[in-house]
Amino acid sequence: MSAATLIVGVLALQGAFIEHIHMLNKIPEVKEAIPVRTEEQLNSIDCLIIPGGESTAMALIAERCNMLEPLRAFVQKKPTWGTCAGMIMLAKEATGAKKGGQQLFNGLDVVVNRNQFGTQKESFQTMLHLPEILGEEPFPAVFIRAPVISQIKSDDVKIVGRLEHKHGQTEAETAVAVIQNHLFATAFHPELTSDNRLHQFFVGFALKYKN
Ligand code: GLN
Repeated sequence: MSAATLIVGVLALQGAFIEHIHMLNKIPEVKEAIPVRTEEQLNSIDCLIIPGGESTAMALIAERCNMLEPLRAFVQKKPTWGTCAGMIMLAKEATGAKKGGQQLFNGLDVVVNRNQFGTQKESFQTMLHLPEILGEEPFPAVFIRAPVISQIKSDDVKIVGRLEHKHGQTEAETAVAVIQNHLFATAFHPELTSDNRLHQFFVGFALKYKN
């Protein structure tokens, strides 16, 4: 059996999709990494990454391209990783959304709060511990107008990354990486570093659901 077996799609309606494709192309188990814009392409992949960008724009474009329902059906059954805006899209509920709400892909049983850390200026990088998935070595996590998970609505959702931050006088912990069955979400941008351990993790995770 050849080592390269997995066809990974990266949703390419909007946002930082090329960077994910570059990261995936370095992983031996990835047979092909393709940008996904149509239902046909969605049907040809084993798993999907929803990139960071702007979730309101991504939702509008998905609706306009008739991709909303196919994506909703896909995330019900196939391994999917949402990063930043992609994490918002993968959730069932978002707060801080535009007036009238916004369309989501309805996968994760969580509430995500958009723009938790304020504006572009308040973007930051930190060494994040993800012991359950990456072991002891921390990951250089880039947070850009990042969301956080503010509520968990199912026992199936497992928090695998927490960010400690000062909020007023108190220290709080917020969930920034979760797994629910075949779904994975991170609030930061792992494709903007040269560390591809999270992409490797996702490929291994998705392979478990193949066959
Ligand atoms: N704040 C953006 C949104 O609401 C997400 C930012 C990002 O993906 N870097 O979509």
